[in-house]
Amino acid sequence: MVKRLETEVWELDNCSGCGMCVAACSKQVLAWQDDGHPVLQTRTKNLGLSKTTLDSCSFCQKFCEEVCPRLDHWMPIEAQTIQAVHARGPIFSGAPNDVIRAVISAGRSAGLLDGMIMLDLDRWNLKPVARIGTTVEQIVDTVGPQYLWAPIFDMLNEAIFEQKMENIAVIGTPCTAQAIRKLRSSTNPLLKPYQDAIRLSVAVFCTGVYKPEMIEEVLVNRMNVPRDQVRRLEISPDRQWLRATLWAGSVRTIQRQQAESYSRPGCGKCDDFLGESADLAVGSLGAPADASTMIVRSQTGDIFVRNAIQMGLLEATPDAVDLQALEAAASEKDRRERAQAFKDLEILMLDGLVDPKKRSEAIQQFIRLYRTPARPGVVENVPRGCTGC
Ligand code: SF4
Ligand code: SF4
Ligand code: SF4
Repeated sequence: MVKRLETEVWELDNCSGCGMCVAACSKQVLAWQDDGHPVLQTRTKNLGLSKTTLDSCSFCQKFCEEVCPRLDHWMPIEAQTIQAVHARGPIFSGAPNDVIRAVISAGRSAGLLDGMIMLDLDRWNLKPVARIGTTVEQIVDTVGPQYLWAPIFDMLNEAIFEQKMENIAVIGTPCTAQAIRKLRSSTNPLLKPYQDAIRLSVAVFCTGVYKPEMIEEVLVNRMNVPRDQVRRLEISPDRQWLRATLWAGSVRTIQRQQAESYSRPGCGKCDDFLGESADLAVGSLGAPADASTMIVRSQTGDIFVRNAIQMGLLEATPDAVDLQALEAAASEKDRRERAQAFKDLEILMLDGLVDPKKRSEAIQQFIRLYRTPARPGVVENVPRGCTGC
C-alpha cells in the first residue's frame, strides 16, 4: 500500500511531481495520471469465472515512501560560499542555465561525470522533457530547466541500468534536490545503486513550475507567440514577469500572475526557493547584471565549481551578491512553512478522529498555531488557566 503517499502527499496536493517514487518502485506499479501525481495501478487476476484485485504492493519495502521528499521537512544545508559567477569560453553568459551547463561540461570533460539528467525543452514543440546527456556536445546543446514541469526522475533507471552511467549530475528544481537528499539519507541497501550513481545535484532557484499546457494557452493563444519562435523562458529576478526570449532576439513578457492558474498545485505549498538541499544552487536572484548567484552547499559542489574555474569555463565576478535579496526570499519561505504547519495540523486532526493520542497532539498543535504571538517588548498577560486559544 502507498497509504502515506496517498493521504499525506497526493490527496493534499503536496506532490512536487519529481517522479522519484515512480523510479524507485520495485514493481513498477506507479504511473503518471495526467500531469498531477503518480497513481498506483491496480492489477487483476482471473480466478475461474471471477476477477480478483491483487495487492500490487505486497512484500514490498515501500521504496516509494523511502524516497518521497514530501514526507519530511528539510532544514537548509548551510551555504559554504555564495558568489556571483558567469560562464566563459564557448558559453559566454551570466544566465543561470548557461552557468550550470558550463559547470557540467567542465565536469564531464575532466572525467568527474559520465553525464547528466537535466530538465530541458524540446525545441520543436516546446514540450518540457527530462534529458540524458553523456557528451559535452549534448550538454551544451540543452537549454536547461524552463519553469515547465516534467518528471525528471523518469530518466533515472535508463541512465543507471541501461546506459550504465556511474557518475551522474541531476539538474532540476529544488524539490529534485530534496528527493536526492532523501534518497541519500536512506539506509536501505537496495537503494544503493541510486545513491552511488548520483554524484551531484544542482538546483535552479524556483518559485514554481507550470503545467506544459501553459505554452499553448498563454504564450501561443494570449501572447500570439508561435511555438517555434521561442528560444527560452525565464522568470525575471523580481519574480514578477515571465519572459520568452525569441530566436529573433526580441523578448516578450507577461505578468506571472496571468500564468498562475497553470502552476502545479504542489508548488503552492513548497518552502524551498533557493535549492536548500542541493550541492549547488544557481539563480539570478541577488546577482549583479550579466551574472548568476552560485550557492555552494557541499564539498562535492565546491569541487565541481573549482574544476570549472580551473578549466576556464567559469569565472567569479568582482561584484558581490545581494544577500538581503536572498534573505527576503527566505522570509517568504517562513510564511510557507507556517502554511505547511497548518497542513500538518489537518493530517493530525484526521488521525485524531481514530487515535486518542493524536487527538491531544492535534490540540497542542492547534493551540501553538492559533495563539497570537506577543509583540516584542509587550509582557504577555495571559490569565492563569487560559490556554491562549
Ligand atoms: S509499496 Fe512498493 S510496490 Fe507499492 S508503490 Fe511503493 S514501491 Fe511500489
Ligand atoms: S513528490 Fe515525488 S516522490 Fe513524492 S509522491 Fe510526488 S512524485 Fe512521488
Ligand atoms: S516550487 Fe519549484 S521546488 Fe517547489 S515544488 Fe514547485 S517545482 Fe519543486
